[in-house]
Amino acid sequence: MRVFCAALAHETNSFSPVPTNRASFAQTVLIRPGDPKMGDPVRFMGVDTIREGSRSAGCELVMSTIAFAQPSAPTVRVDFERLRDEILDDLRAGVAEGALDMVFLILHGAMMAEGYDDCEGDLLAQVRPIVGPDCAIGVLLDLHCNITDAMLDNASIIMACREYPHVDFEERGAELFDQIHAVARGECKPTTAQFRIPMLSMFHTPREPMRSLVDRAQACEGAHGVDVSLTSGEGGVNNTVMQVSLAHGFPWSDFAGAGASVIVTTNDDPERAAALAEQLGHEFFALREQGTEAMLTIDEALDAAAALLEVTPGGTVVMSDGSDNAGGGAASDSTFLIRACLDRGLTDVAVALLWDPVAVDMAFAAGEGAFLDMRIGGKTGPLSGDPLDLKVKVLKLTEGKKHQLWSANQLVHLGRTVLLESDGMQVVVNDLRQQPMHPSAFLEAGCDPWSKRLVIVKSSQHFYANFEPQAAGVIYCDAPGSMNGNVFERPYQHITRPIWPLDDVQL
Ligand SMILES: [Zn+2]
Repeated sequence: MRVFCAALAHETNSFSPVPTNRASFAQTVLIRPGDPKMGDPVRFMGVDTIREGSRSAGCELVMSTIAFAQPSAPTVRVDFERLRDEILDDLRAGVAEGALDMVFLILHGAMMAEGYDDCEGDLLAQVRPIVGPDCAIGVLLDLHCNITDAMLDNASIIMACREYPHVDFEERGAELFDQIHAVARGECKPTTAQFRIPMLSMFHTPREPMRSLVDRAQACEGAHGVDVSLTSGEGGVNNTVMQVSLAHGFPWSDFAGAGASVIVTTNDDPERAAALAEQLGHEFFALREQGTEAMLTIDEALDAAAALLEVTPGGTVVMSDGSDNAGGGAASDSTFLIRACLDRGLTDVAVALLWDPVAVDMAFAAGEGAFLDMRIGGKTGPLSGDPLDLKVKVLKLTEGKKHQLWSANQLVHLGRTVLLESDGMQVVVNDLRQQPMHPSAFLEAGCDPWSKRLVIVKSSQHFYANFEPQAAGVIYCDAPGSMNGNVFERPYQHITRPIWPLDDVQL
């Protein structure tokens, strides 16, 4: 069988101050056919899982673009069109050499560009006519996806990861490969139903009540779905629920299709797909209040950290500064929380990753051990706060280090890092905007986070998988910033109303 695979993923924050162009992708991952890097491992979002699946199934694999960029503002129009058209050109060339049996597209599900509210829908609507109606098209998405009709109409199976933090992309990629492979062999006929849920929020899956809902959705998959009311004891291949995806939506994408939904794919049983999607959709909506993490103001968060540290001598509290999470489109240079720590005279504090290329340049020019009067952070805009004018010591400089994402085989460049110390606080500053998902973001820069009492991570939730096990406690702080959790202050112009929590919604 012949397989085509491409990846084009960007989570678009309509309110981000950081522009997005082709170079933004090149900073993270942008690999085109013929590039020697095409042979390197790419552990982002299941790319290698699809490649390995193709190889082990003995398929001929046609690879196209692999492109990921840090979340930020909508992509510049010409750059999105070029990225899209390169994939479409590769697809046409692939088809010209013989029919394609399977197409895999690894997308985000919340990508916007200038003039394009729904980049994934636009791409899929152009892919389908090129490959024809019989080709099996599988789409793997981040669960922070806003799933549109254009996406559903032109894909055979759409599958989102289940977990936030997204620790399960490889598992989901393998499932998607197997299912699309079965479709291509004519063993099943996928029918998908979507149940839209008018809500915009963020839901952490390691904790209840989301944990049970995610487990329940997963248990519904397969020939023996646990939902007795929907299986009617029939079972068997013809009644298989092939996949269930809880799409959380991405609340910072300001367009009409933003919001959560449940999509269910069955083997040729559209009624059952619709019924299960609706049932799980109601369950998802019912836990919206409890499922949304309680966020604390800066003062509340620092008070909570102090109380926790009092009862855990020697422990380290990890605090999420999610409002400044680069992984959701924030600049990662906000100073609100650092300022508050300095004002309280807190020592034994470490912070990462503060994006400030100018400060990195200056520290590299001064060298390790230098003492400087330095202005750091607060450069991108009002949502980054005021810059900090500090007397700092340059403790360590690094270049070429990598840090880990969720698993040990997922390593990403940190850029140049500078470990600065000021008044007992250590700040890891770097010049490649990203969130710290793993303690290695501190360690590689020369700071042992577990030797501190308070560790501040500019990450909303992806840090949780690898920080929480060693932390005395995790606190979520809702400081001002581009990803501030206060939905009521977000300047939406295009989302569809009514929608919870902005409006009182009944399903
Ligand atoms: Zn996500």
